[in-house]
Amino acid sequence: MRVTTVGVVGAGAMGSGIAALAASAGCRVVLLDIPGDADPASPNRSAPAKNGLAKAIKSKPASFMEAAAVARVRVGNTDDHVSWLAECDWICEAIIELAEPKQQLFARIEALMKPTAIVSSNTSGIPMATLLEGRSEKFRRRFLGTHFFNPPRYMHLLEVIPTPETDPAVIGAMNGFAERTLGKGIVIAKDVPGFIANRLGVYGMVATMRRMQQHGLTIDEVDGLTGSLIGRARSATFRTGDLSGLDVLAHVTKGIGAATGEDFALPTWVHEALVGTGKLGDKTGGGFYSKTKTGTLTFDWKTTSYVPQQRLEGGDIRQAIRLPIAQRLPVIKTLPGAQGAFVRDHVVDAAHYTLTLASQLAHDIVAIDRAMEWGYGWEAGPFQVMDALGIDWLREQFKAEGLDVPPLLELAQGSFYKNGEYLTFDGQYEPLPAIPGRISLAGLAQSGRVLEDNGLSRLIDLGDGVACFEFRSKMNSLGQGVLEGLEKSLRKVEKLGFNGLVIGNEDPRAFSVGADLSLVSFAVSAGAWDDIEASIRTFQDAVMSIRRAPFPVVVAPAGMTLGGGCEFTLHADAVQAHAETYMGLVEVGVGLLPGGGGTKELLMRFTSELQNYEEVDLFAAVKRAFKLIAFATTTTSAFEGRAFGFLRDRDRISMNRDHQLSDAKQRVLDLAPGYLPPIERTVRALGREGIGNLEYALWAAKEGGQASAHDVRVGRAVAYVLCGGDGSPRDVTEQDLLDLEREQFLSLLGTKETQERIAYTLKTGKPLRN
Ligand code: NAD
Repeated sequence: MRVTTVGVVGAGAMGSGIAALAASAGCRVVLLDIPGDADPASPNRSAPAKNGLAKAIKSKPASFMEAAAVARVRVGNTDDHVSWLAECDWICEAIIELAEPKQQLFARIEALMKPTAIVSSNTSGIPMATLLEGRSEKFRRRFLGTHFFNPPRYMHLLEVIPTPETDPAVIGAMNGFAERTLGKGIVIAKDVPGFIANRLGVYGMVATMRRMQQHGLTIDEVDGLTGSLIGRARSATFRTGDLSGLDVLAHVTKGIGAATGEDFALPTWVHEALVGTGKLGDKTGGGFYSKTKTGTLTFDWKTTSYVPQQRLEGGDIRQAIRLPIAQRLPVIKTLPGAQGAFVRDHVVDAAHYTLTLASQLAHDIVAIDRAMEWGYGWEAGPFQVMDALGIDWLREQFKAEGLDVPPLLELAQGSFYKNGEYLTFDGQYEPLPAIPGRISLAGLAQSGRVLEDNGLSRLIDLGDGVACFEFRSKMNSLGQGVLEGLEKSLRKVEKLGFNGLVIGNEDPRAFSVGADLSLVSFAVSAGAWDDIEASIRTFQDAVMSIRRAPFPVVVAPAGMTLGGGCEFTLHADAVQAHAETYMGLVEVGVGLLPGGGGTKELLMRFTSELQNYEEVDLFAAVKRAFKLIAFATTTTSAFEGRAFGFLRDRDRISMNRDHQLSDAKQRVLDLAPGYLPPIERTVRALGREGIGNLEYALWAAKEGGQASAHDVRVGRAVAYVLCGGDGSPRDVTEQDLLDLEREQFLSLLGTKETQERIAYTLKTGKPLRN
């Protein structure tokens, strides 16, 4: 059961997002919506699906991972083109949240689907049994729920809801496809209102608001107490509400309340003063918070007006947030005043609700924790939070509140998780179900697989003769410590006779933000020019040592991969990038050029692609590299990285971050037999004439007001390296180009404007235009 062609019905927020994700992953996609006009001859028949696609193309953050993926989506309408679904391996229904139209659609799909097709519903809460009314047994075997989160590209969680009749092979095929091809984290949920994540997440929102009112706290106080402090997303309660939309919150609470008979009512001020007046959150420019030119305002629920934001910045809380979760949560037990009372009440409410419902929502507690981590961005799921608070403390709190002690709590012997096992609903401890394909560096490190460690980087044994070099500095910036660690690690891998090396990490934000600018700035102010030259040389040597190593080196970037981080990636034998990789040579922003081999590598790469063809204009290669560097082009995905030339055809992309390190390890093993390091290359450099052409472009940009005098100076330095200096055309080696990079880097660093740019960026994190 291989899924290559996907049919999505309903081109709204979710359907168009799911279509964009599947197309980005490489599937052919059919996207249908209702007809836009009853007249069969009307040109607007497929307008709703076309509009849905157009919105997805323009959406921010982007729904598509690259422009080319749009062409993989064919749009149509459910009257004229429903037959297209007959080709699809997976048909996903994402239409209006009403049972009847969904049932009618499934009846039509049943009549035409391939016998091997999988059909799923993206419903947020209509029971699967209701959706399946009137369907044949054959259809029922091929049907399940697939609950994506908005936006589908970025939210890792996919709740899969099989029915008792779903063929286990269908569940396996759907999970495999969603995990590997779409990159989702799968959690199997039971068929109950709100499934796992929304049931607990939305309950948490409603309960928080009630406790806030009871203790008389402000929205600012509550967000300060219900975010990182208790292991939740940094956006805490109300920022999360603004992000997802207050109308969605109102709709979902109403739906879950009606379906469960539980009280999910939001306070009246949410309906009357916010939803009722169109203040729906970020999408309308205001909700619980409102951003103005003079700063952020916070909604004051007591007066139903906005007041200047007053972040909760108590010293105790700020200090606690820096602690690991197991030490951080106990801090709330003694937090004084109304804030302390509120946060204790809140975690006790959440724990009690979760314990009471857990076995109705999921098959195990691990699914519940993963659902909250992947769907709501919690650092730790509810059972991990309970472990950090302590079973005995919770029992006392329940008793003090007059609540029953849920049996699941009594089953736990000391904690829900221990020694790599978790508590089952039967009271047994069983090994944690592995996340398929996941290598955990932290886990390996804990089990003694560290081969080298200097505090800023470490080398970990991944098994099968493959090691992983992991950056460990702040935002994985690259300084002396990391480079020394790399050198030592390369020697160690060679000495151990390993098959090869992966360079990667598990940081959710950045593979690496590049060279450590604070060190550069410090050396400049001390006038230590010889030291600076030596450090650039060390950086270049480090990057080249990746190429020269006698074993394969596979770099695995994910998230921000900037400047030096990008240069590391460019020098790998092969790259195994995560789909969400944002890479670029951004040095011009601080008035520098890529001096760690980045300028050289782009030129070499683009020129060698062309120079086998006779009479080709090599300036095209120079211009391509120049544009990427001079505009500090940063990709919005790894697919774009490939389109721009940062990645080559032989470089690969993992859709699922959890698979990336094992994919990279496998790549090392594929490359290892008979591996030979690449030999030194030469390319034809254009010299003076090439520089002249680029200077003309720089001059035009300055005349047009798009570039400052210093931008031109920086641009000229880039041009100088890319053309191999300003002599006659000549063949240049990699080392020639590295020498030019170093020379031009130092000369730019000597200018007042570049030094100002660096100082400004270090202070504000933003680029300075001077
Ligand atoms: P939406 O209103 O943005 O889009 C629904 C689309 O379906 C519209 O374009 C509409 O024209 C089309 N449609 C309606 N009836 C149709 C029919 N009979 N045939 C074909 N197309 C039809 O809604 P959405 O937010 O994309 O939600 C779609 C589904 O996904 C719902 O079941 C919803 O509960 C569920 N869901 C939504 C979210 C979310 O955050 N928005 C999250 C998870 C699941």
